Amino acid sequence: MQKEDVFKALGLSPSIVNQGPLVVRSPIDGSELGRVRDQSPSDIPPMIHKAVQSFKDWRLVPAPKRGDLIRLYGKELRAHKEDLATLITLENGKILEESRGEVQEMIDMCDFAAGLSRQLYGLTIASERPSHRMMETWHPLGPAGVISPFNFPVAVWCWNFALALVCGNPVLWKPSEKTPLTALAAASLFERAAARVSYAPPSLLQLVIGGRDLGKILVDSPALPLISATGSTAMGKAVATGVAARLGRSLLELSGNNGMILTPSADLDLAIRAIVFSALGTTGQRCTTLRRLIVHASLYNQVVEHLKKVYANVISGNPLDPKTHMGPLFERESFEAMQQTLHQARTEGGKNFGGERVLQETYPQAYYVRPALVEMSTQTDIVRKETFAPLLYVIPYQTFEEALHLHNDVSQGLSSCIFTNDIREAEVFLSSSGSDCGIANVNIGPSGAEIGGAFGGEKDTGGGRESGSDTWKTYMRRATNTINYSDSLPLAQGIRFEVE
Ligand code: NAD
Repeated sequence: MQKEDVFKALGLSPSIVNQGPLVVRSPIDGSELGRVRDQSPSDIPPMIHKAVQSFKDWRLVPAPKRGDLIRLYGKELRAHKEDLATLITLENGKILEESRGEVQEMIDMCDFAAGLSRQLYGLTIASERPSHRMMETWHPLGPAGVISPFNFPVAVWCWNFALALVCGNPVLWKPSEKTPLTALAAASLFERAAARVSYAPPSLLQLVIGGRDLGKILVDSPALPLISATGSTAMGKAVATGVAARLGRSLLELSGNNGMILTPSADLDLAIRAIVFSALGTTGQRCTTLRRLIVHASLYNQVVEHLKKVYANVISGNPLDPKTHMGPLFERESFEAMQQTLHQARTEGGKNFGGERVLQETYPQAYYVRPALVEMSTQTDIVRKETFAPLLYVIPYQTFEEALHLHNDVSQGLSSCIFTNDIREAEVFLSSSGSDCGIANVNIGPSGAEIGGAFGGEKDTGGGRESGSDTWKTYMRRATNTINYSDSLPLAQGIRFEVE
């Protein structure tokens, strides 16, 4: 498929993709994909004002009707799954199969949110006073600011958008300045869905194209009660302090450093498949990528040898080719960070296999690598750092307690897993004294979560939860209502207060 055909199918006219100072290059070969217009700081306050106006109407639309709009958006995504997936691959570099998965995740999220729109319910709570009723009501919160990263250019936004919208909140979306085309396409498909209903006010979704300075304007605006930000921990710290300074609500989804404990009773075939997908899928550029493999010493040599054989068969190459397992790194900086990390790991006693640049002659402006394994005798400083690349540390352990300690002894707390057939080990891993992460799996790798569960992590990962379960509550305002249907006025706690 030609890029022009994809642009056309997704509503990206030449006036959108060919005019502007922001040059977008494909990580596949470094070629120019387009030039888009970015906003200036002075454009943002009027956009915030429009979102506030939009909120005034949208909050009055019954939630199931709001859900119906999201259902229609899901239909647009279904119809254009292949186009949008191709654009993700062109702009982000992940293999087409994973791009399809990203769009499918958006579709699933739309289905989930459409169903949820009929289930935004609160509790009725027993009142201590006679002839009183106490209940909780959930109201729309207000316009939400969504800041998203380059590695999931649309799915992460859609987790937020689908929920925010059914909860009654317009969205101002600042996608990564590195992937604006995919964002423009996702927004254009939403405009098509919105045009099919009569009750959608203007400005339900507005795109803020540009860098962190524009993100900061959203962060500092008291008109946006919620800022949902996904990206690095450094970004999250800046966002958290900015939002806290105005007592706003922030939802943070930040860096991970995800581990697997591989125990003697594990099904090794399953484990190896899970390791390979979660360590080098998306070229190691998922927040949930497996970065630390903590292996029982009795299996260590066997597992390392097995992994080296599988790694040697991994095809790095053009992500549009169905035979490719691993597309390019996103940019030169990603490659340099990977090489610096490998160097540092060697300085700290590591022994590495793979990690070198390949296909340089075919793609001199792109950064393809072999996936890297780094054997470490212990967990050193560099292992505690997230390097956004296909680089897996392998560390031996002797006792289960030691494995758990190594596992939790990092500042991040996103996703984790254990491979074991020992029920005690599995249960301890999932218990309060086990994994300290927001996601803990048994006999499943750490990446590739389903949308039905709450997604997110603890510690330096930021503590936020997105996507399924009851995360919708973050996008709403809770009111506690007490109704007196008696003819007296009893006070809570039995307080007597009579004034004649
Ligand atoms: P990044 O932090 O560089 O940028 C993310 C977004 O934040 C971009 O839109 C950027 O413009 C914006 N931004 C940066 N600094 C800002 C500031 N001070 N104020 C306002 N906005 C600011 O991250 P990235 O390189 O695009 O993405 C990779 C990182 O994201 C990795 O660390 C990865 O683990 C993390 N990530 C986490 C999750 C999760 O759910 N936990 C999901 C995907 C990616």
